[in-house]
Amino acid sequence: MDLNNYEKLLDKAYEKIPENVRQSSRFEIPKVETRIESRNTFITNFNKIISTLNRDKNHFKGIFLKKAGTMGEIRGQQLFLKGQYKDQVLNKLIENYTKTYVLCNICNKPDTQIQREGKKLYLKCTACGAREEIKEK
Ligand SMILES: [Zn+2]
Repeated sequence: MDLNNYEKLLDKAYEKIPENVRQSSRFEIPKVETRIESRNTFITNFNKIISTLNRDKNHFKGIFLKKAGTMGEIRGQQLFLKGQYKDQVLNKLIENYTKTYVLCNICNKPDTQIQREGKKLYLKCTACGAREEIKEK
């Protein structure tokens, strides 16, 4: 084998690695976009957040409202919250939800599904195969 060619191949192989790593770490939760109306808060990009997290919107809503300590409901593409909330507070709540219910504990990828077994919830990861019980924080 031509040594030059071999080195070129190696270079090519190495070039591919960072690209793959970049792809898997590309998962980013969209930051909330909000609108305050009559002292209530609308998360206007709620649908986008839900589709990125790839979770059931009612599951998300239930936990999110409980953690926010308020009432609210899904209104079309938006999530309505009773009360005024700062974006950073909402972003933090979404981040916490994501850590518990979306990201795999083992490989940290978002390619997961929630599985229910009796009263227990498990996070099944389709990327690494791990299946961990979800512990609510
Ligand atoms: Zn995993």
